[in-house]
Amino acid sequence: MAEPGETTVDGQVALVTGASRGIGAAIAVDLARAGYTVVINHRDSAEDARRVAEAGGPTATVIAADVADHAAVRRLTEEVTDRHGRLDVLVNNAGVTLPDDWRTLDPARWQRCLDVNVTGVFHCVQALAPLLEATGRGRIVNIGSTYAGMGVGAIAAYAAAKAGIAALTTAFAKELAPVVTVNLVAPGNIDTDMTRSVGEEFVAATVAQTPLRRLGTPEEIARLVRFVVSEDAAFITGQTLVCDGGHSLR
Ligand code: NAP
Repeated sequence: MAEPGETTVDGQVALVTGASRGIGAAIAVDLARAGYTVVINHRDSAEDARRVAEAGGPTATVIAADVADHAAVRRLTEEVTDRHGRLDVLVNNAGVTLPDDWRTLDPARWQRCLDVNVTGVFHCVQALAPLLEATGRGRIVNIGSTYAGMGVGAIAAYAAAKAGIAALTTAFAKELAPVVTVNLVAPGNIDTDMTRSVGEEFVAATVAQTPLRRLGTPEEIARLVRFVVSEDAAFITGQTLVCDGGHSLR
């Protein structure tokens, strides 16, 4: 096993869900540059995922799967096992917002939001934990959100799902100890398609409410994730690490 401060990850395999763009793509490329063999998961955006794999270098590969689909996650697990025979790092990043007024929210949209954001994490951990445990020192990083606890009605389903991921993080941290650490990285407002799709008015208001007066970058989340999976974070489990420029400070 590597000592704290050591960075050698040769031969280690990392899977990042929802890595065809945004935060997931930044995490995948960052881990690939750090030496991991990276598996880039996506659902629809095959061409984007291929470009991320190119940026990740010759060992990076792509596997399409809808994390909300139990059978698809089982197939993804089989493919990771067949291709690599191991998994050292799982980053549960895939997510959707589906913003809507909670008073008129369609039940199908509520369900889809929970299926992707929280059930998807459950599917991936359930299917992939045995591979992580087999390495003797696995790492799981779940991507949550500071909005889980901020009370915004237009994203009530998203907030509920992200709060659910926080609950899964603590449960799995206890279940998978002492072999696998499980932590939650909670971004604030990050400059991705997800944030920009809400509109420039929202972005401007958000920046004005953020003590550090800007959106975060996907690369800043990626560097935090790289720390959490490193040996330097070997004694951290079941924790939430917030990266939001102070936006959630009250
Ligand atoms: P994004 O730009 O919308 O990218 C979302 C990614 O998830 C895409 O690669 C998408 O791929 C994938 N995805 C969506 N549904 C999927 C599914 N069912 N199965 C597999 N992959 C799926 O989002 P982002 O801003 O990078 O956000 C990434 C994560 O960070 C999400 O969990 C989000 O909730 C969280 N987060 C974001 C912010 C922010 O400010 N942006 C803040 C806090 C937390 P396809 O197009 O191929 O489906």
